[in-house]
Amino acid sequence: MVAHYLTERGREVLVLDRSGVARETSGRGEGNVLVCDKPAGVERDLAIVSRRLWTELGARFPQGRVTAKGSLLMYEGAGGDTAGALEPQLAPEITVRLDQDDLQVDSPGMARALLEGIEVRVGVDVTQVDAHTVTPASGERLRAEHVILAPGPWAAELTGLPVEPRKGQLAALSAPPGMIAHKLIDAAYADSVADEAAELSVATVIEQTLDGDEILVGSSRARVGFDATIDQDVTAAMITRAARFVPALAKLPIARQWCGFRPWLPDHLPAVGQLQSGVWASAGHEGSGVCLAPISGMLIAQLICAEAPLVNPNPLDPMRFSEN
Ligand SMILES: Cc1cc2nc3c(=O)[nH]c(=O)nc-3n(C[C@H](O)[C@H](O)[C@H](O)COP(=O)(O)OP(=O)(O)OC[C@H]3O[C@@H](n4cnc5c(N)ncnc54)[C@H](O)[C@@H]3O)c2cc1C
Repeated sequence: MVAHYLTERGREVLVLDRSGVARETSGRGEGNVLVCDKPAGVERDLAIVSRRLWTELGARFPQGRVTAKGSLLMYEGAGGDTAGALEPQLAPEITVRLDQDDLQVDSPGMARALLEGIEVRVGVDVTQVDAHTVTPASGERLRAEHVILAPGPWAAELTGLPVEPRKGQLAALSAPPGMIAHKLIDAAYADSVADEAAELSVATVIEQTLDGDEILVGSSRARVGFDATIDQDVTAAMITRAARFVPALAKLPIARQWCGFRPWLPDHLPAVGQLQSGVWASAGHEGSGVCLAPISGMLIAQLICAEAPLVNPNPLDPMRFSEN
């Protein structure tokens, strides 16, 4: 997103990535762009602007498959309205709140579309960054007016920010097309995000994939470093909890399982802004990095180009973690 918005402003951009475009965390989620799950505050305000930017991008880049399927925040018992015909598979006691503007997107598809025409070098492992200089493992020294660091859950080393990986597992169940219409999200999800404990927390997210033949069930949160082992007990716990909301899920076969590492920061806000003269960071978006990608990319592009920013950048200032 940074590359896209800078290129749009006439800047020449070179993207370096050791694995590939959206091959890591950004290719491992459900691609939800949600406002419904965010309590009032800075992150929700950012999500509202970013969702609008996603919609604008979707109109220009169909490869991003930006789909306004809407979301239902689900309560076990009272809390919302009767779901009725909105989502027939829900258990009768579940009540819901609808946000019809929430989106599902194809994050890798959008990333590939935005990077068309921009130089991307993959397999490049960046080992050192100084003002205006990037040094990959090859020892080559690359010069740039600005260096933007967006290394996901691996950000701590290059940025010095206290970013840690927060593991999340997902399971894809084989399902008949059209079984679930909305993004379904547990009202307890926000508590799971805010829970800092290292041990496991599970809150339900359910949705049909954009391709339609699978239902994704998640998700877990655990601060266990970069341990990519798929824990069958976690999968079982996610499916059991999800079936409290949508009982039919318990009978669907598991087609695939995987995990990713959310880039977690202790104050639950991303770090988007300048680290030092000529060096910028966009990191620490935890479980909202797809949602907040456009506003993060836009903000850095606007700050670099000395434009009035769309949102107040101060709460996201990476320097809030510096000791001084
Ligand atoms: C299970 C799961 C579900 C999720 N679902 C959603 C969702 O529905 N909606 C949402 O908004 N968010 C979701 N998220 C969160 C979202 O995926 C992340 O916040 C987001 O992908 C972070 O993007 P990023 O670009 O910072 O990191 P990444 O996508 O991981 O990209 C970082 C890139 O930097 C590269 N890199 C790192 N270090 C170096 C280096 N030294 N040299 C060169 N390259 C380097 C990596 O190879 C990688 O390609 C989910 C996360 C998980 C784990």
